Amino acid sequence: MPDQSYADNARGDHSMSERIKLEIHDRKSGDRQTQAVSMPVEFGKFPQSASAIKLAPDRETISRIHGHIEQAADGLYYVDTSSNGSKVAGERIKNDKRRLQPGDVIEIEQYEITLLESHALALKMTKASLAPISELSLDADESCVVVNEGGAYALKPAATDDEPLALLNSNGSRLNISQPAGVKSANIRINNRTVTLPAQASPGDVIAIDNYRIEVLMRGKEKIVCGNPECHLLNDLPFEENCSWCGYYLAASGSFTRVTPP
Ligand SMILES: [Zn+2]
Repeated sequence: MPDQSYADNARGDHSMSERIKLEIHDRKSGDRQTQAVSMPVEFGKFPQSASAIKLAPDRETISRIHGHIEQAADGLYYVDTSSNGSKVAGERIKNDKRRLQPGDVIEIEQYEITLLESHALALKMTKASLAPISELSLDADESCVVVNEGGAYALKPAATDDEPLALLNSNGSRLNISQPAGVKSANIRINNRTVTLPAQASPGDVIAIDNYRIEVLMRGKEKIVCGNPECHLLNDLPFEENCSWCGYYLAASGSFTRVTPP
C-alpha cells in the first residue's frame, strides 16, 4: 500500500488561490508577453491590485482601471469598469461582465489579452521495481527538484537546500527539465529515449533519471482503467496507486490504460 498520509498531504496542498496565465499582445508595438497572475487581476492605466497589468498610461481611451478578471464559484469572469468598454471573445461590453473560457481574448484598445490554458501537473515517482516513492502537484510556473538523499532519489519542492540532480518546471501544459550547472550528470531519458537537457515532457510521458521513473500526469483530466482483466474499474488519476476496487497495483508498466474522459 502507498503511504496514505503522504498522498493526503499531496492532495491537501492544492490550494484555492488559482493562478492564471495571460498573453498580453500590444498590436501597436507588436510586443507579446506572457504573465502568470493571481486573482483579481486589474487592467488599465493605473491598476491597483497586486496582480496589475498596466496599459499605455498616455491613451485617453483607456480608463484608470479599465477592467479586471475575477474568480467566481462557477469560473472566471472579465468585468468591464471602463468609460469606453472592452471586447470579450469579439463581443463589446461596457460596465458588464462575461464568463471567460481558456483561449478567450479580451480586447482593450490596441491590447489583446488572451487567457491561456493552464493545468496543474502531477508527478509520480517510482523506482525500477515500480514501488511508489513520492508524489507532487505542480501548478503552472512552479518548480520542483529531484534530489539524492543518501542514495535514494526523491521529488522535493524547489526551495530545498539539497543540491538537485534535476530541476523540473511546469509552464502549465508541459514540464521543462534542466540540470543545474556543475551537477554530475545523471542519465535522463524521456519515454526511454536519452535526451539532452534542457528538454520538455508532456502529460503521459515518463521521465527516467538513473533507475527512478517520474510519470507526468495532468491533474483531474485523466482516468486509468485497472489492468486486472477481472476488474477493469475506472480509477482517478493521479495518486491512485492501487485499484480502488480490486487493489491491483496501477503502474506505468502496461498494467493499465490511460483514458481522457470527454
Ligand atoms: Zn481493479
